[in-house]
Amino acid sequence: MDTAGTADTAALARWVREFARVVAAEKQRLTELDAAIGDADHGINMDRGMTAVRDALDASPPAGPAALLKQVGMTLVSRVGGASGPLYGTFFLRMGTAAGDAPELDAAALASAIRAGLDGVVQRGKAEAGDKTMFDALAPAADALDEALASGAGLADALRRAATAAEAGRDATAPMLARKGRASYLGQRSVGHQDPGATSAALLITALMTALADTQG
Ligand SMILES: [Mg+2]
Repeated sequence: MDTAGTADTAALARWVREFARVVAAEKQRLTELDAAIGDADHGINMDRGMTAVRDALDASPPAGPAALLKQVGMTLVSRVGGASGPLYGTFFLRMGTAAGDAPELDAAALASAIRAGLDGVVQRGKAEAGDKTMFDALAPAADALDEALASGAGLADALRRAATAAEAGRDATAPMLARKGRASYLGQRSVGHQDPGATSAALLITALMTALADTQG
């Protein structure tokens, strides 16, 4: 990395490791959020999965962006229970497919890979805006990234805007009535609680911003 505004394999590995770090740091918080409206395992599941992802990166460093993203996706699908493993796994697998055989992703390629990942989450989870899921953090982030790049922003700046949008989307889930997943069984009692999936999804985007903060442009 460190050519202007691109993400190579090393940069993507930094992203994944940073996500693993913040998930571990926020494990208790994620579990508390899931305890309020779910089954209290989101922090534990994500931490287990991202620890496995980090171990896999250490054991067999992938040769390119697509290989790295697919390795992350496969590890999450196989190691994380509940809904979050398949959803996060699908996100990374679709990103990997979108990356193709490119040796590094420029800003546009990274944005379209994230869009492909989001589309995979939508297909898999059938969530729409306002359902109180990870979609409510990821979709505004993907939109903000596209809009920033279209307006001429560099990658680092565009990712800052995406992270801000993800955090706003996460916060906006608190007053929502859950319409997907286990939280939907609670009906009105889901109102007033921030969604754990949207919370971890915001961490995913802020980790990307952190990992690519030193890109120029
Ligand atoms: Mg759960």
